[in-house]
Amino acid sequence: MQNKSPRRHFLQMAGGGLAALASGATMAASTPASAGVTVKLPPILNATEAQTKDPVISPPGKRVGFAIVGLGHLALEEVLPAFAQSRFARPVALVSGDGNKAQSVAAQYGIAPKALYSYDDFDRIAHNKQVEVIYIILPNSMHAEFTERAAKAGKHVLCEKPMATSVAECERMIAACRTAKVRLMIAYRSQYEPIDRAIAKMAQSGQLGALREFIAGNSQRQGDVNQWRHRKALAGGGALPDIGLYCLNAARFLSGEEPTEVMARVWSPPGDARFTEVEAAVRFTMTFPSGFAATAVSSYDSHESRFFRLQGTDAWAGMNPAFAYEGLKMQSARLMDGHDTLIEPHFPAANQFARELDHMARCVRENRIPHTPGEEGLQDHRIMEAIYQSAREGRVVTIAPPPGPTRGPAPDDGEV
Ligand code: NAD
Repeated sequence: MQNKSPRRHFLQMAGGGLAALASGATMAASTPASAGVTVKLPPILNATEAQTKDPVISPPGKRVGFAIVGLGHLALEEVLPAFAQSRFARPVALVSGDGNKAQSVAAQYGIAPKALYSYDDFDRIAHNKQVEVIYIILPNSMHAEFTERAAKAGKHVLCEKPMATSVAECERMIAACRTAKVRLMIAYRSQYEPIDRAIAKMAQSGQLGALREFIAGNSQRQGDVNQWRHRKALAGGGALPDIGLYCLNAARFLSGEEPTEVMARVWSPPGDARFTEVEAAVRFTMTFPSGFAATAVSSYDSHESRFFRLQGTDAWAGMNPAFAYEGLKMQSARLMDGHDTLIEPHFPAANQFARELDHMARCVRENRIPHTPGEEGLQDHRIMEAIYQSAREGRVVTIAPPPGPTRGPAPDDGEV
């Protein structure tokens, strides 16, 4: 039927990510039986649902082996448990400054005692053939060093965000991986998350009309003054590179555009020992050549608050909460049949870390450029340096366009 009502069309379009995801259940529609008879199974989904080729789940021996470097909160609470939901990756080695901790984590995940390394003897990992990817989950200032050492060991690199603490470090990391002919991916988990991906598709296919504004916030109360996040040498900055980065990166990947100017302010509560080296809060507005503008606030000293809204001439779409590990929710509104109509589509829970691990594993197996390679992290660092310059100098700072594409091909919805 050609003549869809705007309401129906909108609901279908917003649910597109759901259908594509759910169609993962269509695998094995036809299974050869031993007697040479082909057993045909009916498709699980209705014929009106999109059918995607879902890749098979790799058996353990064929999975891509990951070494986890750094056994802090993110590694222990999110990444290692996510391997249970991964289809192509498995943990095979650990790198830690604490041998006892490494041993007990290894026992929990079935990692061989001989596959444990300290930061000092990390380079021995070159001889461990099971390790194909090194996943760096260390304080930001250590990302460049371990990326260079991993590349030298001939291993592919998955590196946590922020990519590093400066543009210069990002450039070194990209060069090291290029020289060693290994892949480099930055762990921008939101770019593998289904709701974010559905909103990016809506925006970039014109479903919101012309993009006008992006408004976002990512704040939390960061308490412990002794945390490395409050030391400039280890973190590179305060709220901006840690959590403001989610707003910055989302403005770019949701719109598919690159900013050319930024105006920013940073602020810290006077006399607060947590913020003698890094900013508590950052507020910035980026403008894009199309007239689109993105405004974000991010603070280490506000009650937890994570949201965004992407506004176009015909509709808006957003998330509240956004950027979190789980519990994400989408909202969207447009005029339908003469009424401003709000929809809140439900998406099944998806483990962002498992999807990210699987994307990296498949890029390694299939020799593909990751969707979020080093160039994506580098571009964010260029913009963050412009944000700090704008805050220092109290003026608008221009941002040169990236010299080339910053992203590899998007994973299709059946893939991640
Ligand atoms: P954390 O403090 O919990 O863990 C850091 C680990 O690094 C610890 O095991 C610590 O022992 C080790 N380490 C080694 N040398 C250190 C040093 N000199 N000082 C301090 N720690 C040292 O930090 P985290 O929250 O796990 O963050 C690690 C990385 O992951 C950071 O780059 C952070 O930005 C990133 N991260 C990403 C997400 C995400 O959602 N993608 C979430 C949290 C953290």
